[in-house]
Amino acid sequence: MRSRRAFLKRLSVSGAAYPLYDRLVPDLRGEALNAEHGGSASLASLAGKVKITDLQIIPVTLPNARNTYVFVEILTDAGVKGLGEATLEGKPEATMGALRDLRHFLIGKDPTMIEHVWQAIYRFSFYRSGPVLSSALGGIDIALWDIQGKLLGVPIWKLLGGPTRERIRVYTHLGDEYPDRGAGRARELVAIGFRALKTFPQGSYEMVEGPSKIHKIVANLKGIREAVGENVDLMFDAHGDLYPSVSWQLARELEELHLLWIEEPTLPEDLDAMKKVQEKISVPIAAGERLFTIWGFRELLEKGIVDVVQPDIVHAGGISQVKKIAAMAEAHYVAVAPHNPLSPVATAACLHVDAAIPNFLIQEVVYGLSARNAMVNEPIERVSDGYIELPRKPGLGVELNHDIIRQYGYRHPEFEEVYRPDGSVGEN
Ligand SMILES: [Mg+2]
Repeated sequence: MRSRRAFLKRLSVSGAAYPLYDRLVPDLRGEALNAEHGGSASLASLAGKVKITDLQIIPVTLPNARNTYVFVEILTDAGVKGLGEATLEGKPEATMGALRDLRHFLIGKDPTMIEHVWQAIYRFSFYRSGPVLSSALGGIDIALWDIQGKLLGVPIWKLLGGPTRERIRVYTHLGDEYPDRGAGRARELVAIGFRALKTFPQGSYEMVEGPSKIHKIVANLKGIREAVGENVDLMFDAHGDLYPSVSWQLARELEELHLLWIEEPTLPEDLDAMKKVQEKISVPIAAGERLFTIWGFRELLEKGIVDVVQPDIVHAGGISQVKKIAAMAEAHYVAVAPHNPLSPVATAACLHVDAAIPNFLIQEVVYGLSARNAMVNEPIERVSDGYIELPRKPGLGVELNHDIIRQYGYRHPEFEEVYRPDGSVGEN
C-alpha cells in the first residue's frame, strides 16, 4: 500500500520542481484514461501540450559552390524552434517538394513524439524510403530532436543515453588539391590538427583497367603515407567509381599501406559484387552513405561485407535511424563512421549520435570552407589533435545565421559531369 502511494505521488509530480512537466507529460493519474480504449489512455491523450505550428524550408547555395543545402526549421507554440538539415546533393527541388508534402501533416502534432511522427511519415504515404523521402524525413527528425533537447534543456546525446566518450575523433579529405599536391596538403591538414585523412579516385575509370591508373592511385597514397607517417590514418574512398575487378586489384596493392578502410569499393546496388571484392582483400571495407533507413542496412550487415558502416545522418532518416543502424552494426561487431559532407548542422546531428553509441569509430567533417562555416553560430567543427568537442548547448547546439545565409541566396545546382576518354558517361 505504501509503495502504491509512493508510486502515485511520483506520477503526480509537476509544477515547481519540473517547470515543463505539465507541458510535456499528460496527467497520468487516471483522468486521461479513456473508456473507448478499455480503460487505457489513448495515444492522443498521452501527447504533450506542445504543438508544431509550422515547417519552414530554407535552401542555401554558397558563393561559387555547386551544392545547395536545404535546412528545415520546425516552429512550435512553446516558442521553441527546431533546426534540421535535409540536404540531398544535387536534388534540392526534389527534397523541398517532399518537405512541402509533409508540412500539413506536421502542423498540430506533438514534436516530442519523435518516433511516432517518424513512423507515420514513413508508412502513411505508402511509397517510402529512397534518397529524397529519407532525406526529407531525416531533416524533420533532426529538428524534432533539437526541439526535444531545447524543451528539456539538455544536449541530444544526453537524451540518447550518452555520453559514451568525452570527445569525437574526426577525419577530413585532401580535397581538390589531391593528387597534384596530396603530400603537401596532407602535411598542412596534420599541422591544423587532423590525424586521419581520406582521398578519392580522380577522373574517370573504365569497367576494367590496365595498370596505369591503379598504380597512380597507389603511388599517390604511398606519397601521402611517407609524408604523414603511421600515426596518421589514411582511407581511400573508391566512391563506387571503380568496378569490382579494378577495386580488388587496387585494394590488394594498397594492403601494405594499412589503410583504415577502402570505401564503397563497388556501387551499393549490388552487395554480392561488394562481397566478392571483400573476399579477395584484407583491407577493411566501409560503406553505407547511399543506403537508407534500417532496412537499407540489414542485408549489408547480414552478409558480413563491411567492417565499418557509414550512415548519412540526413539521407538515412535522421538521428532516430542512425542510432538504430548503429545498434544493428554493434550486433555484427561493425564500427560506425557517419558519412557527412553536408553543413555544420548535419555535423552537429552526427556528433550527438557519435557521443551516445558504443561502436563509434570516426566522424567525417568538411574542413576549410569559411563561407560554409559562417552559416551557423557555433564553430562546432574545431579540431584539436584529431578530435572535436561534444556539443554542450541544449538540443542540437547550433543555429543558422540567417543574416549570412540570406546574403548567399539559392541557385539550382549543376551536375558534375564525368566522361570517359571516348565520351561515354563515367561514374560520379
Ligand atoms: Mg564516400
